[in-house]
Amino acid sequence: MAYEYLPYGRQDISSTDIEAVLAVLQSEFLTQGPAVPAFEQAVTNYCGATHGVAANSATSALHLACLALGVGPGERVWTSPITFVASANCARYCGAQVDFIDIDPRTYNISAAALAEKLARAEPAGQLPHTLIAVHLCGQPCDMKAIATLAQRYRFRVIEDASHAIGARYLGEPVGNCRYSDITVFSFHPVKIITTGEGGLATTNQAALARRMALLRSHGITRESAEMDHPPDGPWYYQQIGLGFNYRMTDIQAALGVSQMERLEEFLANRRRLARRYDQLLGELPVTLPYQPPFGESAYHLYPILIDAATAGIGRGEVFESLQRRGIGVNVHYIPVHTQPYYRSLGFRDGQFPNAERYYAGAISLPLHPGLTEIQQDRIVDALRRALQENACGSR
Ligand SMILES: *Cc1c(COP(=O)(O)O)cnc(C)c1O
Repeated sequence: MAYEYLPYGRQDISSTDIEAVLAVLQSEFLTQGPAVPAFEQAVTNYCGATHGVAANSATSALHLACLALGVGPGERVWTSPITFVASANCARYCGAQVDFIDIDPRTYNISAAALAEKLARAEPAGQLPHTLIAVHLCGQPCDMKAIATLAQRYRFRVIEDASHAIGARYLGEPVGNCRYSDITVFSFHPVKIITTGEGGLATTNQAALARRMALLRSHGITRESAEMDHPPDGPWYYQQIGLGFNYRMTDIQAALGVSQMERLEEFLANRRRLARRYDQLLGELPVTLPYQPPFGESAYHLYPILIDAATAGIGRGEVFESLQRRGIGVNVHYIPVHTQPYYRSLGFRDGQFPNAERYYAGAISLPLHPGLTEIQQDRIVDALRRALQENACGSR
């Protein structure tokens, strides 16, 4: 029998979203028009930050954030090994050295205790980081207060990679308000919480950082006479005052973003309802469910479960393949970044971040997105139960 394939994540596009995009296609500006600032405003209003800089991806926004903070050759940038490679690559683009902090085995985010220990060792060696990139994995906020305290004590800058976490809350406030960081970056790839097709956005409360990111997003070119080294030659005049890129978001994308922002609360409510339902339905199974620390409210971009081969009597690989055979589009988030060949070539090795590697050995992300129905979710849970039982009965 052919099963309907259930992907782990996917976009939810309404007729209102489509109309918003069509309106831009029929308007004067496809890019560099009014939709981009409107989207920036919508996100910063929602988060409670003062500035927003949209970009053509979160990867670009992370690169801009690193450059604006002065990450460069000779600097050190630390991040989590359990993240998408872009969280580390952005520092490499700037010529910086990357290192990792092991994760907390309960939250899967960087461990504030491991960070404190590594900082205490780095200080006497003169190897303190310039910037920390804290990743809110699965939409679950990091312990930002603890991180901000360490940032003050050791004088490093903080970027929040909130690619998974628009709509998440930390101590009752929205992620992205930058209360405990310099810059927060969101992603709008179609599997994330809201989408612009491709896209990202950096929020900050520091005008100088926002200006720097906006400048580098568009070639390092300014039209502000105050930023030029001589008065403009005429009304056509611009100056390139730094080496930037074309990292601009189009108005087509931004209009979709504005429309998706209107639907954010609906998306979050669905994700949280489905996550709570997984919590209930999976409670009896020999798997570890996501943990919610008291300080955070997850946006539930992902719902990873851990299969411990010793308790389950079956390995992650077998469960994964059994679910895929039943049409359940499970995935693994993430392969520890330090074990990627590119990072190995920089000197990283297996065994350096044991909690990250243990997490990776057991992790499976179950499908979770706002359009997932409870009937589909029941089918996923049933397939997982069977996968686990198959082994217990020794039938395979
Ligand atoms: C998706 C993702 C990115 C990159 O986002 P893009 O918009 O695809 O460039 C960066 N970091 C994390 C944690 C992500 O999940």
